[in-house]
Amino acid sequence: MQLKGIPLFRLAGIEVIIDYSWFIIFSLVVYTNFAAAREQFTVTQSWTMGLSVATLFFISVLLHELAHSFVALKHGIRVTGIRLFIFGGLAQASSEPESGRHEFLIALAGPALSLILGFGFGSFYGVMFLAGNSGPAAAVAGYLAAANILLGIFNMIPGFPLDGGRILRAILWDRWGDLTRATRVVSQIGNSFALFLIFLGILLFVFAQSLLSGLWLVFLGLFMKQSALGSYHAVVMRESLTGVQIRQLMKENIVFVDWLMPLADLVNDYIYKYQFTSFPVLNRSDLLGMVSLEQVKTVPKELWMFKQVRDIMTPIEQVPYLKPADDATDAFKRMVSEDLGSMPVIEGGKLVGVVSRRDLIDLFKIKSDLGIS
Ligand SMILES: [Zn+2]
Repeated sequence: MQLKGIPLFRLAGIEVIIDYSWFIIFSLVVYTNFAAAREQFTVTQSWTMGLSVATLFFISVLLHELAHSFVALKHGIRVTGIRLFIFGGLAQASSEPESGRHEFLIALAGPALSLILGFGFGSFYGVMFLAGNSGPAAAVAGYLAAANILLGIFNMIPGFPLDGGRILRAILWDRWGDLTRATRVVSQIGNSFALFLIFLGILLFVFAQSLLSGLWLVFLGLFMKQSALGSYHAVVMRESLTGVQIRQLMKENIVFVDWLMPLADLVNDYIYKYQFTSFPVLNRSDLLGMVSLEQVKTVPKELWMFKQVRDIMTPIEQVPYLKPADDATDAFKRMVSEDLGSMPVIEGGKLVGVVSRRDLIDLFKIKSDLGIS
């Protein structure tokens, strides 16, 4: 997942980012609350209430994600960022929990915090109500109580990618000792629930003439359906790479490029021809570094005739590499988290092979075709 949007702040190494799509939902929450408040309150009061509800609800969603993140950090999982977008928030971790118990606690933290917030706002509303106060502050608290409790309950639905799905998977994983099977079950539940949301969205659209909430539900359903499938594939992939060493899948007939080659030749004779995204760079038989398509893209096309590979390559000391005995699962995780298309395999200071992400995915496909995953 890409972190596109506006960086808000950093907390304990976690980058909080607002996705552009988030502004849509924020404006909608402001407007719907303004419209609802307008029946009882003045225009100024209603706008203030709409803005307060949206801002406080947005802080509530952020706190929900921070709760997940802090429990994850406590269990040694690195959380890189939190992204707020049209469907809520997403905390992004660069590793997965190692045991069902950890996953259980991390997943539970978010909904638990939402419920606590919900009861907090609810108590405030209750006190105001008993004191005979039904002003704007009470109405805002009442709405936030309902929204947070709903958020907590919705997230407890036991299907991927919702928190409840993670909780159920942790329990099944613990009971069966089989992560793939547990993931398959919660992905199927998540998928069915997503289809139900899409169906509900269509009903709303057709019968209640509610264009916005109908469409929003349909898109939420589609998003959840895709994530449910995605998490299942990720686990099956990881499982099928377990126990495989890099030496078993690295390519040994390596295509090298010379350090003095002009970039124009690199593109025309190598990148187009072999369709690899990175190449090892040699000076005679010495490995000097790696050069990638991404690096070529940083140079304007007009200069490709004049710049050489050595001008843009990553020197060998800075190149992330693998060893033949490395585990394929770890290698894949590194490639995904560091966004590398391929990595050199080095043993005793010598380049012995290259592994690309495509090699790992191909192995996974062959294994699943043969039914050995
Ligand atoms: Zn959550």
